[in-house]
Amino acid sequence: MPAIRARRLFDGRELLGERVVHVTDGKINAVTVDGPADLDLGDVTLLPGLIDCHVHLVFDAGADPVGRLRESSDEEVLDRMREEAARTVAAGVTTVRDLGDRGYLALRLAEKLGVTEGPEILASGPPITTTGGHCWFLGGQADGVEGVRAAVRERAERGVHVVKMMVTGGEMTPGTFSHLRQYGLAELCAAVEEAHAHGLPIAAHAHAGEGIADALAAGFDTIEHCSFMTEHAAEHDETIIARLAASDVIVSLTAGIVPTGEPPPPGVAKRMPGIIAAVRALQAAGVAFVIGSDAGIGPGKPHGVLPYGARMLVDLGYAPLDVLRSVTSRAARACRVADRKGRIMQGYDADLVAVSGDPLADISVLQRPSAVFRMGRRLR
Ligand SMILES: [Zn+2]
Repeated sequence: MPAIRARRLFDGRELLGERVVHVTDGKINAVTVDGPADLDLGDVTLLPGLIDCHVHLVFDAGADPVGRLRESSDEEVLDRMREEAARTVAAGVTTVRDLGDRGYLALRLAEKLGVTEGPEILASGPPITTTGGHCWFLGGQADGVEGVRAAVRERAERGVHVVKMMVTGGEMTPGTFSHLRQYGLAELCAAVEEAHAHGLPIAAHAHAGEGIADALAAGFDTIEHCSFMTEHAAEHDETIIARLAASDVIVSLTAGIVPTGEPPPPGVAKRMPGIIAAVRALQAAGVAFVIGSDAGIGPGKPHGVLPYGARMLVDLGYAPLDVLRSVTSRAARACRVADRKGRIMQGYDADLVAVSGDPLADISVLQRPSAVFRMGRRLR
């Protein structure tokens, strides 16, 4: 029975002292204060493998991910996705929620990928969007109450883990606008009802304040981005934020960017001060949050970027302990895998990441994992 010793252990909720984690058949069998270990990792903190609540494995994080995807066959895309999956898990991200692919490729990859080849992938398939709406090119166009209901049913039959719906326009799709809604409340409510009837969580892509309010009213489980974008800036609404804080909804913050020297896209750059103010206001109000990096959508967001998102939130004034929970136990709750991911506890999957030093004192250590285990198998 492999037993792994670490100087400190973050169990998904609290930072503890020295522990030995016993692994059997890919699962955590026991966590003990002392006893013999097969592997002593030394002066490290052992954490649950990190969980990114929003990635796009079909996007290659290049200068033109949409164009590259358009020009590539499904088989070519799948080959690249395998590499992105390997990069992701090497960064200590052992579970990802893929919130938008083409042709259910992320779901296909999830079924094919061996345990040591990448993270666990929870996939939505093509996001549901209006005709010509945000990310229409991924193939998920559906209009009207009956149209969106049928789209949700199709996804449930395919075996998705989550449904994704584009409540507002987005920055990647010319002709759509982040500050405008795409659907009426009736369609949003119908999609939520249909998803929940199939036992599926449903995630809302929402930038505009009105879209955020609609997603909350309709009962979406997570609200992605939640950036409060207006036409030329971003202006958060304290009334909506108070309602978010009082609800069960989890906001998925699009944090995480590696330094590339390149400026962000103009549509994001001009709104950045307002978005940062919104992110701080969400924290001040105590809104439950996770991180969804949106890995893949551009050069600043390579797959595995999540630890940079954790650092960004701490730099913006978020408590390090809260941020660690957001990428482990709370992310597992948001992704509906809290019974087996996001904690280091008996019976949980042995997805583990070790970092040197103490991430509560310096969250940037997450960017340099010294060991990664996936279902008990050491990958680095
Ligand atoms: Zn996205």
